Amino acid sequence: MDEQLHCSECGTVIKDTYYQCLDNFIQAKFFDTDEENCFCSEECFCKYMSLTQIEVEENDNEA
Ligand SMILES: [Zn+2]
Repeated sequence: MDEQLHCSECGTVIKDTYYQCLDNFIQAKFFDTDEENCFCSEECFCKYMSLTQIEVEENDNEA
């Protein structure tokens, strides 16, 4: 019984520690099993959640 855990975003084999989302709503929405709620890094979790960086629009300040 030594099934390996894999990061759900990049597929990396998890060795010592991993990131898991503890939010009940997100768990119900995104993950069918505990194994899917498993990420090698915060970056991978953010990618999985489609986190993206948006620049603040500063049109009001333009001369
Ligand atoms: Zn990963």
